[in-house]
Amino acid sequence: MILDDLYQDLILDHYKNPRCQGDLLNPDCRCALRNPLCGDEIELMVALKDNLVQEIRFSGHGCSISQAGASMMTDLCKGKSISEIRDLCKTFRGMMRGEKSAEQIDVLGDAVSLEGVRKFSARIKCALLAWDALEKCMDQAEGLVQKHDQVVNL
Ligand code: ZN
Repeated sequence: MILDDLYQDLILDHYKNPRCQGDLLNPDCRCALRNPLCGDEIELMVALKDNLVQEIRFSGHGCSISQAGASMMTDLCKGKSISEIRDLCKTFRGMMRGEKSAEQIDVLGDAVSLEGVRKFSARIKCALLAWDALEKCMDQAEGLVQKHDQVVNL
């Protein structure tokens, strides 16, 4: 697989020095996903406070695209609100379908380096795995938010 050299370096850097790797003691949301095509595994844990991502960590193993992708994604999500994260998920998926302009994907930070992966259809799932887990966690989070809102309304 040949990607732009600069992006290749960035992916390797995240793979070798993953940001936000480890466990959270009491996550509000947790999701473990596997990509059977490549054997990648990612478990994502998110702690929220006031609708914002307070802490986010992942653990897993697999190819450099999946693990670097999780590192880039988690790093980007720190401090973001659930709705901001939903937008980032849409932007990332749009980038992987080739639907977004360079300006639009700029918000994705280092994760922009995965854009070239879309040329290798067998690897797209590797790049999306962390984002799939993130969306599942946000689904759980929105459940929490609803519960919280109901309590406040009482
Ligand atoms: Zn993979």
